[in-house]
Amino acid sequence: MPQIIDGKQISAQIKDEVKEKVAALKAQGTMVCLAVIQVGADPASSVYVGNKKKACAYVGIESLSYELPEETSQEELLSLIDELNGKPEVNGILVQLPLPGHIDEDAVIRAIDPKKDVDGFHPQSVGALCIGQPGVVSCTPAGIIELLKRSGIEIAGKECVVIGRSNIVGKPMAILLLRENGTVTVTHSRTRDLKEVTRRADILVVAVGKPKMITKEYVKDGAVVIDVGIHRNENHKLCGDVDYEDVLPVCSAITPVPGGVGPMTIAMLMYNCVRSVELQ
Ligand code: NAD
Repeated sequence: MPQIIDGKQISAQIKDEVKEKVAALKAQGTMVCLAVIQVGADPASSVYVGNKKKACAYVGIESLSYELPEETSQEELLSLIDELNGKPEVNGILVQLPLPGHIDEDAVIRAIDPKKDVDGFHPQSVGALCIGQPGVVSCTPAGIIELLKRSGIEIAGKECVVIGRSNIVGKPMAILLLRENGTVTVTHSRTRDLKEVTRRADILVVAVGKPKMITKEYVKDGAVVIDVGIHRNENHKLCGDVDYEDVLPVCSAITPVPGGVGPMTIAMLMYNCVRSVELQ
């Protein structure tokens, strides 16, 4: 029977560890505070922002909420970020993505003080990750490393294949697996014979953004399969990039959707808020 990697339980454990750290900081007179900015009222973004605020309340991090109208200009947003960069009592700044089309996301990410970049998207954070210097690591891939480690899955020396090369998942995932001494291959939309590559993987991380694309034909017997995808199927139920029922019999461990990678992202955001205090 394959191991079902329980992201709910592991994320709860991490939040409890963060809660203890936040309490210890408070006892020394240091408060942890996250500013969350949302532009517009995209319903999915509102759910994510709501969950982030709930997690802050649970671990004892103060959250400041900035709900800006859809028509907010880039200058107005940049000026708010500048103001928050200058406030010593604000440790982390999170701008919920995606932003409305008239705002340049890269310019916004670059405007955040790297020491307050709790999403780990700033070029300085990404650069630090690449060369192994201290910094904040983006939440989803950092959460996947925690899932593997806390499930007793060794990464060193393993063939690790990542499907997807996005800046927020695929690329940082590959670098983190490399940092853990995996032998890493990154695949993408232009990869020739994807199945041939993925079937080499001892650890297969799937961030392809296509519902149930990965079937057992892509998976080596006994592989560990990490499914990053989140989609709603025709019955409005959540599913991942992996065809779970099909892959389950051939893998040695797998993350379910929901309850796998998803809950880890917010737990690691909480972890990153404390990390940013340490960096400051
Ligand atoms: P993205 O669309 O930015 O990237 C998808 C990647 O897949 C691209 O690099 C592309 O080259 C590659 N790709 C597309 N078609 C391919 C194919 N046929 N063969 C091989 N590679 C192919 O997506 P993303 O932002 O990295 O997100 C991936 C998935 O993870 C999405 O479903 C997203 O919703 C989900 N996600 C979940 C969390 C979480 O917290 N669990 C966080 C971020 C993203």
